[in-house]
Amino acid sequence: MPEFQTSPGMRDILPPDSARWRHFVSVFAEVVEASGYGQIIPPLLEDIGVFARIGDATDVVSKEMYDFVDKGDRHVALRPEQTASVCRAFVQHRPTVPWKTWYAGPNFRYERPQRGRYRQFDQVGIEVLGVDDPHLDAEVIALGSEFFDRLGLRQVSLVLNSLGEPDDRSRYVDALRAHFEADLDALSDASRETLTRNPLRVLDSKRPQDAPLIEAAPRIAEYYSDEAAAHFDTVQRDLRAIGVPFVLDPMLVRGLDYYRRTTFEFQAGTLESAQNAVGGGGRYDGLVEDLGGPPTPGIGFALGVDRTLLACDDEGVFAAPAANVDVFVVDTTGGAAALAVTTEMRRAGLAADRAFENRSMKSQMKAADRSGAAFAVIIGSTELDASTAVIRPLRSDIEQTTVDRADLVATIQKVLS
Ligand code: AMP
Repeated sequence: MPEFQTSPGMRDILPPDSARWRHFVSVFAEVVEASGYGQIIPPLLEDIGVFARIGDATDVVSKEMYDFVDKGDRHVALRPEQTASVCRAFVQHRPTVPWKTWYAGPNFRYERPQRGRYRQFDQVGIEVLGVDDPHLDAEVIALGSEFFDRLGLRQVSLVLNSLGEPDDRSRYVDALRAHFEADLDALSDASRETLTRNPLRVLDSKRPQDAPLIEAAPRIAEYYSDEAAAHFDTVQRDLRAIGVPFVLDPMLVRGLDYYRRTTFEFQAGTLESAQNAVGGGGRYDGLVEDLGGPPTPGIGFALGVDRTLLACDDEGVFAAPAANVDVFVVDTTGGAAALAVTTEMRRAGLAADRAFENRSMKSQMKAADRSGAAFAVIIGSTELDASTAVIRPLRSDIEQTTVDRADLVATIQKVLS
């Protein structure tokens, strides 16, 4: 075993997976930029206070943060997600609203690594600040659905809930607490511990022991104010009107404390249930204010790149794009001719590769095959002396031809098109 390997929960993304990764992000960018979203690139590192606002009662903040004191004595953390950074940036730069942003990049959470759960993982997401309108909720959710469709995924379902207004939510939390406390012995130890920190999260428990009590728990809908109920109705009506299928789940509470009103999750039918969320989001109308800004409504979602690609593998969709070059140059005269020819080709916009170290013809032809190129351009001593080159098709049974070096690039361009 080599002395150094990636740390637990950290992975190298190698070719060709890295090309698929990049393609994933560019498809996402295409979908959201066509709806008026612009990219924000926040730093990986922020003052710990930015993330503390996500809520002390969430594991993400209380247990999983990669935080440290830097050389300037600042307590900082690697971002565990990007919504808080986007809100911090909003407060700092005060852009005009609505501020429609998208992002892509890694986050860090000190979790127990397993399939679909890593300590460094990538997300793509959107956030909109400054709009209090249920039609926006529908737009945001629909864009998430649209993206999964574009990837070719058929087994991703949209699960929808509303947590009500903050007052509704806190009355509901009190009721939940009372419900669970009335039958504390029936709860698992883990859920009893969760109850002291965050009664809502008990609803997330997948432990069979907790199921009966959760089933009998009060439902959030009973606590909606008229405004919250009307908002949620409009979101549902909108989604039906534009043909975005969803299922309602009154138990969907989501891990982060800042959500209120609309919350949703995208779940992949092919993934194991503990890691089946490929994305999620909701409204977080109080977060900007918590970060020192003016009262500003916000909504967004984040999708896990790693997990979504696992779902793509399971469904056999969104394969890595072919990373083939157009031409592979085989030069048995020392390599200077290959340098000249590849340079000329690359300047003309062709994708060209070559072999090095003056290998044998046989070994260079093997490399040409492996490269996936459509053509090999072969230069031996005869061609060098005559200022010509041989064009040999590698993927078709067209005859090989010999052309003047001066016509080489134009000929390749012609046969490629
Ligand atoms: P969250 O920010 O917790 O709402 O997560 C949004 C999405 O990010 C999830 O649905 C997952 O797809 C992904 N995600 C969150 N945590 C991890 C992780 N530790 N490893 C891989 N993906 C993750």
